[in-house]
Amino acid sequence: MPSLSKLFGHTSARLMLQRALESGNLPGTYLFAGNNGVGKGALAQAFAQAAACLNPKREPFDSCGVCVSCREALRGHNPEIVTLSPAGEQMQIWQFWDRDNHPPGVLTHTLPYAPSLGKKRVYIIERAEALNESAANSLLKVLEEPPEYALFILLAAHTARVLPTIVSRCQTVRLFASPIEELGEYLKSSLGVEANRAESLAAYAEGRVGQAIRMAQHPEVGAEIERILDFAEGLPVAPRVRALRLAEQLRKLSGQVKALSGEDSAAESEKSGSEEGAKERVGRRQLATIFDILIAFYRDLLTLSVGGEAMKRVVNRDRLTKLSLLAQEGSPERWISCLDSILLARRWLDANANIAMLTETLTMRLLR
Ligand SMILES: [Zn+2]
Repeated sequence: MPSLSKLFGHTSARLMLQRALESGNLPGTYLFAGNNGVGKGALAQAFAQAAACLNPKREPFDSCGVCVSCREALRGHNPEIVTLSPAGEQMQIWQFWDRDNHPPGVLTHTLPYAPSLGKKRVYIIERAEALNESAANSLLKVLEEPPEYALFILLAAHTARVLPTIVSRCQTVRLFASPIEELGEYLKSSLGVEANRAESLAAYAEGRVGQAIRMAQHPEVGAEIERILDFAEGLPVAPRVRALRLAEQLRKLSGQVKALSGEDSAAESEKSGSEEGAKERVGRRQLATIFDILIAFYRDLLTLSVGGEAMKRVVNRDRLTKLSLLAQEGSPERWISCLDSILLARRWLDANANIAMLTETLTMRLLR
């Protein structure tokens, strides 16, 4: 896990955090906001490690990597840097505070005690959108005035979905996607990803570093992308009467996209919750990653049908011959309208629209 100074992207956010650490007057409560896969988790870990470090580097402020707190953090075992994720659909009050008939609450048993390993106790709260009202209310006081040795880092995709009483108590840090070329270069030079693959992964991830790294490191990802592209290649030439059948295939395909969507690693933290809700959320995440690949695919068709200089930006280069033929099946206007339809479907997906209806409307629009 890279330290604050060595992380890719988020330059202004990192500078701001480093300045706050340097000042010795660190706010006790942060909210990192940015789309799924943008890299909130990695930044939170690096920030937590720097804040807890016993012997931090200066100018720029960063963790030392060798003190006992850093060593434990790097092994992922620092008991004073705790990550909390929702138990199922929601983050429950008993996850924080002792309640009858539940496992011990984390804060009840740690927050009153000063850290003994490092300088801070850090609580990283994932998916702050999922804090239900009673859990959120139970946190208001500690978020308002945490003990000086405590640091809370809440993570959320959208601040608008976090309860306003929580947001108002946090220092908000917004995280954005990086330029695709820069991310591709990073995957190549720092992670040793082969050049063509690095560029396409950066494009599929739309510049989100967390998603790109997950894709680069998971052995199953390549096969999943191929399966989605095989499906995508059938779309430009399929007649509209096949729309419902293709929508069904699309939903089935999304059930198989596990590595790409991070479902295999997320499943662990979610299995304890309400089965239906968790399944529903996983399904949406899987469909969202398919949309990402479809967007790259249709962008390629657009690029190829326009031709010229832009051709260098084709993402799926190993399918160039087939894509060039498919691009002739439509005009640039058609490919633009397909892209619009996918972007719209992705917004509906975010807004919790019905998945069957959403996929059917999408395939209707994509077919001739
Ligand atoms: Zn250290």
